[in-house]
Amino acid sequence: MMSEIYNTFPVPDDKIVSDHVPLCGACRYLKKRREDAMKYCNTLIAVKDMPASLKFYRELFGLEVAVDLGWCKALTCGLTLQEHFDEIAGFPAETMKYRSNTMELYFETEDFDGFVSLLDSFPTVERLHEPRTYPWLQRGIHIFDPDGHLIEVSESMYAVACREFQKGAGPEETAKLIQHPVAVVQAWFEKYQGLKKNDLTVCGTDCGACSCYGTMCTGCNACQGKVFHAPEGKACPIYECAVEGKGLKNCGECGMLPCEIWMSTRDPRYSDEEFADSVNQRIQALKK
Ligand code: SF4
Ligand code: SF4
Ligand code: SF4
Repeated sequence: MMSEIYNTFPVPDDKIVSDHVPLCGACRYLKKRREDAMKYCNTLIAVKDMPASLKFYRELFGLEVAVDLGWCKALTCGLTLQEHFDEIAGFPAETMKYRSNTMELYFETEDFDGFVSLLDSFPTVERLHEPRTYPWLQRGIHIFDPDGHLIEVSESMYAVACREFQKGAGPEETAKLIQHPVAVVQAWFEKYQGLKKNDLTVCGTDCGACSCYGTMCTGCNACQGKVFHAPEGKACPIYECAVEGKGLKNCGECGMLPCEIWMSTRDPRYSDEEFADSVNQRIQALKK
């Protein structure tokens, strides 16, 4: 009976009795739910070996324990790990199904390639499949945690949209490609365009052409050289030297260009030839 009443929620206003009439438990509950919406708090997963689970979520996801209740630990994202779940929930341990394929923990990252590289250094982490691209152009991978809980890690849809913007697609075309509402993609486009202004950097790099731009990096000017690959809290050596050290707008105003700092600030993926090209192109951009 109670479940039937709950299933009728939301109840039309004229069915909620007034405060002057004594309310039965179900009506009080429904009234309270109207006044103070039910809150979704977190997802709790049963774990057999807390240290192993903590290590997994710390090292691969950068999560820490936010609330420590012994058998129960809430991580910084709200995900909660629970030991002895059978005793607490009240069912036999042998009936617990750890490898469900009907739900997943879903994580997003702006740096999907970085996550996959990190994952490569954990060969014992089981993968359901290798990275793949969904029809809405988002790349993702499914893996299992130490207890067999299914986890999806995908790139954020904003990052997916930015990739299309970088190729020259407008918001409507991007919305179609990534199968998202135009209004949402329009807002992302405006954010992306806002970031793109003033995007020639101190060293002549065009942030607008960088795959990290707008997602994992706000651009050199916006973050004042404190890019994710610089030492924590510090600006990159070129930015530090030109702007903070010499008070210049950019290295184009410096007679030492290209200096030792330029030569030692190099993307390790570049070959010697590619790096020389990059230096020349940046010098040309600064001299325009
Ligand atoms: S190398 Fe340094 S100065 Fe150049 S774009 Fe990157 S962070 Fe900015
Ligand atoms: S600062 Fe460097 S990493 Fe960031 S968007 Fe610009 S080029 Fe890319
Ligand atoms: S010394 Fe190098 S890094 Fe510093 S301002 Fe001159 S060219 Fe730029």
